[in-house]
Amino acid sequence: MKKGLTIGHLYPDLLNLYGDRGNIQCLRKRLEWRGYEADVLEFTLDDKIDFNRLDLVLLGGGSDREQMIVCKKLRDIRKDFSAFVEDGGAVLAVCGGYQLLGHYYDTQEGRIEGLSLVDLYTEQGSPRLISNEVIIGPDFSMPIVGFENHGGRTFIGENRPLGQVKFGFGNNGQDGQEGVLYRNVVGTYLHGPLLPKNPHVCDYLLSRALERKYGEASLEPLDDTQEEEANRSIVKRFAGGNA
Ligand code: GLN
Repeated sequence: MKKGLTIGHLYPDLLNLYGDRGNIQCLRKRLEWRGYEADVLEFTLDDKIDFNRLDLVLLGGGSDREQMIVCKKLRDIRKDFSAFVEDGGAVLAVCGGYQLLGHYYDTQEGRIEGLSLVDLYTEQGSPRLISNEVIIGPDFSMPIVGFENHGGRTFIGENRPLGQVKFGFGNNGQDGQEGVLYRNVVGTYLHGPLLPKNPHVCDYLLSRALERKYGEASLEPLDDTQEEEANRSIVKRFAGGNA
C-alpha cells in the first residue's frame, strides 16, 4: 500500500481568512510530488473528529466573532486534540487558530476560551498589528516570510518561538518573537498563505508527521528555485541586510 498522510482541516467554513486553504493545497502537492498519498478531511462544527485517523491538523485564522463560535465547540474536542499533540501529532495553527491553542484570548466582547494545548495566552490590544513579516528561526534554513493582521497580543512564556522578528510585529510587538514551536505544533501569526511562500516550513511539518507515522521521513528535494527567489526578494525588500 502506498504511504501517505491524512490531513484534518478544522472548521474551514469559519476559520478561513486570507487563503489559509492554500496551506492545505501546498501540503497535498508536496506529498504527491514525492509519491505519497494525501487525504484531506474537512470538519465542520457538527462533525465528530477521530484524531486517531489524523496525521496533521490545520486550524486557520478567523475573526473574533468566528473564534467565539468555534470556542464553544473546543471543549468537546480538547481531550482528544491534546492527546494527539502530546503523542507528537503535527499541527499548523494560524493567527486565530494559533490564539485558540492557548488558554484564552481576552477581547472587549469577553473571554474566548482556548484549548490550552500550549501554555500561552492572548490579550486584545490596539491598534491592530498589520504588516508584512520576516522572521528567522534556528530550525529553518531560510527566513520565513508572510503577512500578519491581528488585534491579539500573544505571550508564550518559556515556550520556544517559531522565530525572531526581523521585520513586522510578531506575537505581541514587544518581545521580538513570532509564533511558537511546541512538540510538533507550529503556531504563527503568519497568513498568506504561509506554506506556499515557505516550502521549508511545509516540509518541516510533513517530515514531523511522516516520522511519527513511519519512523522515518524521506522527502526528496524538490525544485524550489522560484519559491526561494521570491523569499529572497521579500527578505531584501522588508528586512534589507537584517536577515
Ligand atoms: N481575531 C483575531 C485577532 O484579531 C485573529 C485574527 C486573524 O486570524 N487574522 O487577533
